[in-house]
Formats: sequence, C-alpha cells, structure tokens
Amino acid sequence: MTPEHDGRLMILLVDDAPTNIQILNETLKDEYQLFFATNGRDAIRITKESMPDLILLDVIMPEMDGYEVCRILKADHLLQNIPIIFITAMNQQEDEAIGLELGALDYITKPFNPVIVKLRVRNQIELKRQRDLLARLSHLDGLTEIANRRSLNEALEREWRRGSRSQKPISLLMIDIDYFKMYNDSCGHLAGDDCLRLVAQGLKGALGRAADFIGRYGGEEFLAILPETDESGALVVATLMQKHISGVDIPHPTSPLGGRITLSIGIATATGKREQNCECLLNAADKALYQAKQEGRNRIVASQAISC
Ligand code: GH3
Ligand code: MG
Ligand code: MG
Repeated sequence: MTPEHDGRLMILLVDDAPTNIQILNETLKDEYQLFFATNGRDAIRITKESMPDLILLDVIMPEMDGYEVCRILKADHLLQNIPIIFITAMNQQEDEAIGLELGALDYITKPFNPVIVKLRVRNQIELKRQRDLLARLSHLDGLTEIANRRSLNEALEREWRRGSRSQKPISLLMIDIDYFKMYNDSCGHLAGDDCLRLVAQGLKGALGRAADFIGRYGGEEFLAILPETDESGALVVATLMQKHISGVDIPHPTSPLGGRITLSIGIATATGKREQNCECLLNAADKALYQAKQEGRNRIVASQAISC
C-alpha cells in the first residue's frame, strides 16, 4: 500500500538497510512527504504509483541493485525526468561515474552527513521545480493561459496516432471570433486581449470529457481536439461553445451581427489511417471554417466526409 499524497513534495527513499532509511527519514521528514522501499522492485512500483519529486537511491541491494533501478526508470519516458540521487557506500570515483552516467543528478557517499543530504536534496528539488515550471509554461499561451500551438500540435499527433490504432473517429473544431479586427479597432487592443481570455475560458468550459483538448491556434483562432468523437458529437460541442460565448455576452458595438461577440466554427471528423498524417484533418477543419465565414459567420459548418 502506498500512502496518499499529502500535498508536500514527495521523496522516495530506497535502501535495503532500515537504519539508513530511519536516519534519512529523521533528516527529511519535516520538509517532505516520504515514501520508502527496501528493494528495487518496490522502488519502481512506488515510483509509478506516486510519481515522487525525487528519489534517494541506494546502490547495493539484493536482487536488483540501484544502478538497475536507475536504468529502468530512465528508460521509461513517463518516469525519466524524476531526479535521482545515489546514496551509497560505494565510494570509488568509478562508481560515482557509473551513477552519473546512468542519469543520476548527484551522488552521495556513506557515511553521509544529514545536513549535506538535506541541502543537496533541496538543491535538486528546486531545480526540478524550475524545470517543471518551464515545461508547463512552454506549453501554455501567455495571454489566455490555455494550451499553445506547440501543445496543440503534440496533442494532435498523439490523438491521431491513438485514433488510427483504435480506429475510432477524431473530430477537430477550428473556432474563430467573428469581426475581431473591428472589435480591436472600436474597443482597443487591451479590451481585445480581455476578450480573447474570456473566449478561451468559455470554450474550455464547453468541453465535457477529460480527453478533450483546446488551445489557441493563433491570433483569434482556437482549435479543439475531440478524441473518440464523431461528427454529431462534435456538433453538440460546437453548439455548446456558441452557447457559452453568447452566455458570457461580450458586447461588440461594431459587429454587423448584432452587437455581441460571435464565433464561426469549422468541424472535421475522420478515422485515421496509420500511413497518413493529420494535416488533411486540419485542412478540412480550416476549409469548413472558411465556408462558415463565407456563409455569413456566427455558424457551424461540418466538412463533407473526408478520407484521411
Ligand atoms: P473574420 O470574421 O473574417 O474572422 O474577421 P476578423 O476581423 O475576426 O479576422 P481578421 O483575420 O481580419 O482579424 C483578426 C484580428 O485579430 C486582427 C488582429 O489584430 C486580432 N488579433 C490577433 N491576435 C490578437 C491578440 O493577441 N490580441 C488582440 N487584442 N488582438 C489580436
Ligand atoms: Mg544497501
Ligand atoms: Mg476572426
């Protein structure tokens, strides 16, 4: 059984000697939530279950040694970014080199000084926090704080591959604010920015499933990716998006469509084939959006069946 996460940063202590675990526990328990494993197999299982923020890893253990644990964790793309510090009685420089070569960030030899352990752990945790923050920011649009174009591209590739494996349809919604240039011209650029934020939140609120994904595709254009969703499902979501935005009721004094912010939405749905990429689906959604604009805006158009 793995304990529940209590909100503090989590460290997994791995050592086959209970006394070492006890000392480390005393050293770190005030600042961190600690998990324990006394063999390599448990260490890997607990890492998968609890995703600790850092692992302090003994090297010499029966059955599976710490180097092997490190190798396995570093080969798993979901776990490879968890920092590992070896803490070991193997104090030769070659041992340290092996540990660092395997991707550990630090190497502490026994007998250890608890104060030094505490400080080295703190350093690595701080670095991880900064890395995680950067990774998060690099996937967010700075203005609206929803996913950015890069993040959308990654999600689309991922879902396209998943959909072509499962042979389930995937739908895209290309969403564009109507007459947004006029909005900026009449209300000012700062109000334009506020409007983009409101629209982003409104669109996000219309998504019902955990796997649904929305981001800012560029300018005043947004893209929603709906895995395992056919065209009728996509129409329901698109209609709900329009409803949400009319509910937010953002005045657009110069809009020819009646004084409120409105959206045009293009829908494309396909069940992917392995050998094709998702460009055709994006193009189809784009074309449908263009058609919605041509037909007068403030409307939803689903592209004719496409073969992707
Ligand atoms: P349509 O109904 O055909 O979509 O017309 P439109 O005016 O919305 O489209 P157009 O592409 O002509 O203009 C898009 C406008 O979006 C122009 C640009 O100034 C504005 N825009 C793009 N990005 C931002 C932004 O980050 N902030 C603000 N305030 N405006 C933006
Ligand atoms: Mg040991
Ligand atoms: Mg527009």
